[in-house]
Amino acid sequence: MAIRWPFLAPVLLALMLAGCASSMSPQSDTMRAGISAPGIPGSAAPSKRYQNIGARYESEATRAQWAKHLATIWLGGHPGTRTLPEGHVLTKAEARRQFNDAASAQLSFTWFGHSSFLIRSGDAVILTDPVFSRTSGHGIFSVHRIAPVRPDPDVIDRLDAIVISHADYDHLEMGTLRRLARRFPHAVLYVPAGAAGLVDRLGFDTVRELGWWERDAAPAVSIQAVPAVHGVRRMPVHPLNASHWNGYRITLAGRSIYFSGDTGAGFIFKTIRARTGPADIALVPAGAWAPRDFERAFHVNPTEAVEIAQTMDAPLAIGMHWGTFALSAETPQQQKNTFLAAGTASVKTTVFRIGETRILR
Ligand SMILES: [Zn+2]
Repeated sequence: MAIRWPFLAPVLLALMLAGCASSMSPQSDTMRAGISAPGIPGSAAPSKRYQNIGARYESEATRAQWAKHLATIWLGGHPGTRTLPEGHVLTKAEARRQFNDAASAQLSFTWFGHSSFLIRSGDAVILTDPVFSRTSGHGIFSVHRIAPVRPDPDVIDRLDAIVISHADYDHLEMGTLRRLARRFPHAVLYVPAGAAGLVDRLGFDTVRELGWWERDAAPAVSIQAVPAVHGVRRMPVHPLNASHWNGYRITLAGRSIYFSGDTGAGFIFKTIRARTGPADIALVPAGAWAPRDFERAFHVNPTEAVEIAQTMDAPLAIGMHWGTFALSAETPQQQKNTFLAAGTASVKTTVFRIGETRILR
C-alpha cells in the first residue's frame, strides 16, 4: 500500500513518478537538454535524448502543471473503478472460454486491458506492451489498475514475440516481462532504440532494438518499427527521453496490423502510410486525452486516433489504452462512447471488453 504524502507528492512526483502520463515529456525540455545525458544503466549504447518528428502540437505545460497532473494521478483524482462501463470486464471463465475457442482461428485478438493485446495466428503469437501486474509505476509511486487482468495470462501457451512501444511504466513492465521470460525465453523481445539496456537481463534469449523503420522479417511474420509522437519518462532509472517511442507494423496471417503505441497527432503518419502500405486493422488509443490542452501534444483524442487509422487506410480501428488505469480526466465511459462515435464511413471503430477474444479475418 502506498504511503500518501499529500504535500510532498507533487514535488516528488514531478521528479520520480512514472506511468503513462509522465511519459509525456515536455518537448521543449527535450530540446533544451540537447543530446547530452547520463548513460543508461546496463546499456552499452551511447546515451542520447530522442525527439519527435512531425508532431502537430508542441507541449506548453509548465513544471507546475506537470506536478499537479502527476499528483492527481497518484492521489487517485481521476475517474476510477466506479466509472467503468457496465460489463467492461469479462468473468474469468468467459475470458478463458473465448480464448480457447479461438485457438485454431486464422487470426485472433485478445485484450488484457490497456495496450496489452495478444495477436494469434497459426504462424506466430505476438504480445503488445504486456502489463499484467496490479500496479504501474516505481515503488511507492505506483498506480493501481482500476480493472483486473483477463484472461489469466497463464492461458497463453505459445509466445513468439513481444513488441514494446516505449519505456513508460504502463507499457514496459518488468515484473510481467520477467514472468513471461521464465515461460517463454525464446520469444523475441522487440524494444525501441535505446531501451535494450533496461531489459537485456530479464531472461529472454533475444532482445532486439528496432529503430524507426527497421524491420525484422521471417517467412510468415514481419515486425517493423514506425514513428510515434510521444516521449519517455521512466524516472528515476531511465533518463528523460533516453529511449525512443515506436509504433509497429505487424504482418502475419496475410494481414497488416498497425499498432500505434502511445501517440499524439502529427504529420508523420502520412509518411508511415507511404512507406509501409495500407493496414487492415489499426490498434489506436482511445484514452488519456483530457484535459486537452495538456494532453494533446502526446495523446490523440478519439477523432485524431481515427484520423490516423484513416491515414493508414485501415477499415477497422480497435481502441486501446483506456479503461484500465486512471491516468486522465475523462471517464472510461466517455473514452468508450467517444471512440465508438468517432468512427467514419471508411473507418469502423470498436472496443473490446477486458478479456475479450475476437476472431478477425
Ligand atoms: Zn501510456
